Amino acid sequence: MTQTPTRSDFDQYMVPNYAPQQTIPVRGEGSRLWDQQGKEYIDFAGGIAVNALGHCHPVLVDALKTQADKLWHLANIYTNEPALELARNLVERTFADKVYLCSSGGEANEAALKLARRWAHDQHGEHKSRIVSFGKSFHGRTLFTVSVGGQPKYSQGFGPVPGGIEHGEFNDLDSVRHLIDDDTCAVMVEPMQGEGGIIPADPAFLEGLRELCDAHDALLIFDEVQTGVGRTGSLFAYMQYGVTPDILTSAKALGGGFPVGAMLTTDRIAPALTLGTHGSTYGGNALASAVALAALQHIDTPEVLEGVARKHELFREHLETINRKYQVFKEIRGMGLLIGAEMRPEYEGRAKEILPLAIEEGLMALIAGPNVLRMAPSLVIPEADIAEGMARLERAIARLVGEQ
Ligand SMILES: *Cc1c(COP(=O)(O)O)cnc(C)c1O
Repeated sequence: MTQTPTRSDFDQYMVPNYAPQQTIPVRGEGSRLWDQQGKEYIDFAGGIAVNALGHCHPVLVDALKTQADKLWHLANIYTNEPALELARNLVERTFADKVYLCSSGGEANEAALKLARRWAHDQHGEHKSRIVSFGKSFHGRTLFTVSVGGQPKYSQGFGPVPGGIEHGEFNDLDSVRHLIDDDTCAVMVEPMQGEGGIIPADPAFLEGLRELCDAHDALLIFDEVQTGVGRTGSLFAYMQYGVTPDILTSAKALGGGFPVGAMLTTDRIAPALTLGTHGSTYGGNALASAVALAALQHIDTPEVLEGVARKHELFREHLETINRKYQVFKEIRGMGLLIGAEMRPEYEGRAKEILPLAIEEGLMALIAGPNVLRMAPSLVIPEADIAEGMARLERAIARLVGEQ
């Protein structure tokens, strides 16, 4: 007899590196989800900025099904049409000349860091290997990317970790001036820190990083795994800042829910990854590439991107209205549909208490660190779902402050 899986199966059968909520969603459509009991949720979490077109968007379902009947996988001893089309589309829509495809954000960043080291090694010699990144940054969970990331808790106990990595302070150019020199091969930065608390970079900070990198012939790497593919209202956030990186990484929204990642770079740098220097069995898989191509083409349209800007304003207005009533947030910030609401000192560290209350009210949301409520909904979330989701959030907040 087959048994329906339950939440307790998680504790019995899975390693305890996550602590999922009690509810198990089984079906999704647009910005709504239903769990095993048929309870409905509005989705402001978006799979952590992944489900950029909501759940089961017809464009993505069609791309997946069409490709599923044709060809799934070949490995990189052959190339395939969807991967070639995806790469061409990424190049035509960005600063990049060359693309490396993989299956996740961590892998895209791993490739970016290895490329930077290898390029500097080949151009300048072994001494040029130092990497500068930032406190609170997040770049993935491989040993290299947790070491470059600025959250020590993710690398503690996993040593020895890769060396030659130093952390400056985000939005503090002076801290970088003290760290960067001619032995620096790369500076890695998120244009807006995601996991670190939804903190947009100051334009002058990114401009200054570009200048410092140029002065020391170091590569500027933008980790746009969370901010990319329409999330901030432009295809990539760098386009709004007007600062062009040498390497850019993308994942999350790129596949709309199908695992895929990409590293983008220029003709000046790409040749360092010569034949056999790097690779991934699944990277550029036909099925993943077909879905990503459909997602990219659908998102990179004025209709979707302008919608993101409009919905950003709606989110802000709703959150400010809630805050006028309940006085829980110190600041509401973010770009596009990556929005953070930082808790006031009276609620210090209590953002995560909102999540189970919201679940009870029928809303899925996120946090970014202990003090910031985060929302990363579908880029095409209907305005009615925003209004209903905010009504549910308000009920959760009311319960948090104990007025109800
Ligand atoms: C999520 C995230 C990653 C890691 O992506 P995975 O697909 O989980 O490996 C890297 N960088 C940033 C900025 C992210 O938000």
